[in-house]
Amino acid sequence: MIIHLKKDVDPTRAAELAAKTKAIIFNNQDHQVLVTGFKMKALPARLEPFTDAYFVMDTDIQLASRGYLPTTRTIDLGPFSIGGNTGNTVVITGPCSVENETQITQSAELLQELNLKILRAGSYKPRTSPYSFQGMGLEGLKLLDKIREKFNLKIITEVRDASHVDDVIAYADIIQIGAKSMYDHGILRKCGQTHKPVLLKRGFGTTLQEFVQCAEFILSGGNGNVILCERGIRTFETKTRFTLDLCGVAYLKEFINLPVVLDPSHAMGWAYGVADLTRACMAMGVDGLLVETHPNPGVALSDASQQLDHQQFKSLFNSLGPIANAVGKKIV
Ligand code: PEP
Ligand code: MN
Repeated sequence: MIIHLKKDVDPTRAAELAAKTKAIIFNNQDHQVLVTGFKMKALPARLEPFTDAYFVMDTDIQLASRGYLPTTRTIDLGPFSIGGNTGNTVVITGPCSVENETQITQSAELLQELNLKILRAGSYKPRTSPYSFQGMGLEGLKLLDKIREKFNLKIITEVRDASHVDDVIAYADIIQIGAKSMYDHGILRKCGQTHKPVLLKRGFGTTLQEFVQCAEFILSGGNGNVILCERGIRTFETKTRFTLDLCGVAYLKEFINLPVVLDPSHAMGWAYGVADLTRACMAMGVDGLLVETHPNPGVALSDASQQLDHQQFKSLFNSLGPIANAVGKKIV
């Protein structure tokens, strides 16, 4: 159950009520919110005098549900927003990893040429092998900071574990939580304490319920700026790296109040399919697309096989406009 306390309830009293009800408490602008498990169906009598509104829930998908907020949340990204009634689909691109200044400058130039606003590049990479490139770490974050200033871009970069979560929160405009870190509660809780937007990727072996419940950790920490990212799940299929769950995206659009971004690159795993898949994603009418690009994918230090070169990306990008129009979306 979600309970909105009256605006004049003082914080000490609110904390007391939360403890007695075994509820999570957080502040939402001008009022405090309590969230209990979904099995609570009747408002406890002690809360009645302090309660403005309450919402009975079917599962522990609560703050993220359309039963609570019928319209998609709006995430303010500075010069533009996504979600809400903006109708925007933000196209995010850049390399898998920030590798050096020349590479990331070339990536930023691609965005500048296409008038795109969000550069993606990981600096802490959650690799499958300990012997592979693990990312540039803090040095990479500093490079991204420099590029942000020079090109006036927003930066999305990922946090791999709790050891550097504060650095990523400080440097990123959007904090990316990767598929392999979706369940890292240290990261989720830290991200709940900031107001920076968070893009949460779906773990590749997780259900939609589990995925959205991870978002609940951030939302119930008091950060409402959560974006969900479908990036492919593991099935019996081995010819492609993962299987992009577009049915799941339809579910999220119908029942969940968070903006949805689709990542065809990690789902496909091979550059040859990424353009077609991206167009299919655009046709889903989602709030954002995330496509990996590299100035020279052949020498990329991570995810080399799936990154598009800049020419490939430009021709893909040029094909997206009519699809966006057809589904009532505006590319930003
Ligand atoms: C990435 O975005 O480069 C990445 C590692 O993605 P995922 O967490 O979806 O595997
Ligand atoms: Mn990658």
